[in-house]
Amino acid sequence: MPVSALKGVGARLAEKLAARGLGTVQDLWLHLPLRYEDRTRLSRIADLRPGEPAQVEGRVEAVERGFRYRPVLRVAIGDGSRATLVLRFFHFRAAQAAQFRPGVRVRCFGTPRPGQHGLEIVHPSYRILADDEAAPLGQSLDPVYPAVEGVPPAVLRRLIGQALDLLPEPAAMELLPPELPELVGLPGLRQSLLTLHRPAPGEDLAALAAGTHPAQRRLALEELLAHHLSLRRQRLAQQSQPARPLAGPGELAGRLLRQLPFALTGAQRRVFEQVRADLARPVPMLRLVQGDVGSGKTVVAALAATLAVEQGCQVALAAPTELLAEQHLANLRGWLEPLGVRVAWLAGKVTGKARAQVLADVASGAAQVVVGTHALMQEGVAFHDLALVIVDEQHRFGVQQRLALRDKGPAHGLVPHQLVMTATPIPRTLAMTAYADLDVSAIDELPPGRTPVRTVAVSAERRPELVERVRAACREGRQAYWVCTLIEDPEEGAGGARNGGRVEAQAAQRTWEMLSAQLPELRVGLVHGRMRAAEKQATMRAFKDGALDLLVATTVIEVGVDVPNASLMIIENAERLGLAQLHQLRGRVGRGAAASTCVLLYQPPLSAMARQRLETLRTTSDGFVIAEKDLELRGPGELLGTRQTGLAAFRIADLGRDAHLLPQVHALADRLLAQRPDVADRVVARWVGGAVRYAAA
Ligand code: ADP
Ligand code: MG
Repeated sequence: MPVSALKGVGARLAEKLAARGLGTVQDLWLHLPLRYEDRTRLSRIADLRPGEPAQVEGRVEAVERGFRYRPVLRVAIGDGSRATLVLRFFHFRAAQAAQFRPGVRVRCFGTPRPGQHGLEIVHPSYRILADDEAAPLGQSLDPVYPAVEGVPPAVLRRLIGQALDLLPEPAAMELLPPELPELVGLPGLRQSLLTLHRPAPGEDLAALAAGTHPAQRRLALEELLAHHLSLRRQRLAQQSQPARPLAGPGELAGRLLRQLPFALTGAQRRVFEQVRADLARPVPMLRLVQGDVGSGKTVVAALAATLAVEQGCQVALAAPTELLAEQHLANLRGWLEPLGVRVAWLAGKVTGKARAQVLADVASGAAQVVVGTHALMQEGVAFHDLALVIVDEQHRFGVQQRLALRDKGPAHGLVPHQLVMTATPIPRTLAMTAYADLDVSAIDELPPGRTPVRTVAVSAERRPELVERVRAACREGRQAYWVCTLIEDPEEGAGGARNGGRVEAQAAQRTWEMLSAQLPELRVGLVHGRMRAAEKQATMRAFKDGALDLLVATTVIEVGVDVPNASLMIIENAERLGLAQLHQLRGRVGRGAAASTCVLLYQPPLSAMARQRLETLRTTSDGFVIAEKDLELRGPGELLGTRQTGLAAFRIADLGRDAHLLPQVHALADRLLAQRPDVADRVVARWVGGAVRYAAA
């Protein structure tokens, strides 16, 4: 039922609600309060405690209007409990001020703080009561809802109230049989919603605030279940399609291994064996390989490619930027061409005759391995017999693009195997939910001989010393990164999406000007997200080629570019970045033999949380440990942003808070799939709908 079916909802209001994802009455049911205000009782002024919201009623004892730096209205009220409370207003109309005359009866609600003369409440919500007015207390705790732009809170509350009056009887809305053991002791869905929107006086506010109330657990459980089931269903669908088994003798892989200048690490060997077992089956592989920067994912991809080539099939390898793709091309050519494998290159800037030639080779099958960028996914690129698709840094691609590449498989109904690689590790608990439809492998070991990056946290006041440090490092022939980060709006994250990273780009520009002036003997380059792609790449390439000493950059350099000679990185405003992102950035150094340093510049004072983040980074370089810590500190919202994984945002569940429910979720899913597949379908339809496509689809 659309919200427009509710009383008082016209087209304009419906549009504003829809902009916040509130298109239907059901959406309103799930728009849960952020917190509650308790107006069901009155406190004595003498009993008030700073920081604890309360409702009091008293009479005005004194009124003072004045100007300090701006107008201020102070109203002292007493309730006979031998204490006085001051109500303080900075914004008020004359008529409002005139209401407060000594002796007038006032009821107000707010959070008291220590003031000059005892406790005070700044801008309380209040009502003037007539002397004989019987003003009943609230019957339930007042919900405070997340704001919806353009919709006054009172209107939103009224609409949600109307929507709740339309809640069907339990029999009509409960999907999960309440006797399921995982649900024992939890209220039903209808009861849970009513409890959360209209908690009775005396409801456990602390549990509600912590998100551990049984009503919240009940909803989170069902929502997590729906998402998990949806992923499992997609996995089943995927596995019901046929793929070509790539189960050759592995002779080509053996030759590649013998010819490599290094031996595989144990982790690389294990992951390659997992991939090989997948490829041998007649169903499409869908495997995610996680491995820290520098863990050596590329060679595993190359080995997988030989298995397809050996069967006479083609392989496509896509990377999100031209520079990264070029790096893969150089690696694969170096490794595979000596074995007689033809490796082709297809990027946006391959045009004209060259492009026509590549397209012809791809179509005829002469090109056995095709490396490229988004260009690989475009229409007009037709493969002869594509059996394996490898995607690097998968979160940088849209789901649709990846599907486009997968759909380039041979016409006779076979689906290519897919191998996706990422350097952003995801904690195990999350992986099971976010990637229930992928198999996940971890390369959790770095090749031997790497010197770990030394990480130090330094207050921004010591910036001048760092400039000298950059000078010294570059004088010795090494290279350095100076990373500018700026968060414009906490809601948006670094280089906020809405302004396209404009503020961050400006900061980088200023820093570049300053460092260029301070370090005149150095060649200083600049890259940021607002530059044209060609310009960005030319600068990155110049840095890689050693034609620049210092690169001033925004977080656009995050993705895997390998400049082994860069051994110093300075990250500004490090306290504002998440752990995972800092770890990714830091991974740009420490790729060569020289000892590397990463300096985290922060603006004091540090919050406790920021201090912990920097400390974690300083003491560990293990991406998986960092990911777990990130989850603990930030919750998964940012870790698993919709953009990053394609995972739909949860309405109620919070994987950080609710991760402990996952074993129950998995048990419930098994039980439903085995016993009540019809229920499983309806749970998915309710929470996920048909609209969501996942990272791994
Ligand atoms: P990433 O996992 O970040 O993509 P790469 O595949 O780019 O890492 O590997 C990083 C570097 O380590 C490359 O120069 C690669 O040749 C090298 N390398 C990979 N595996 C090993 C190994 N087992 N021993 C030594 N060096 C290795
Ligand atoms: Mg890589």
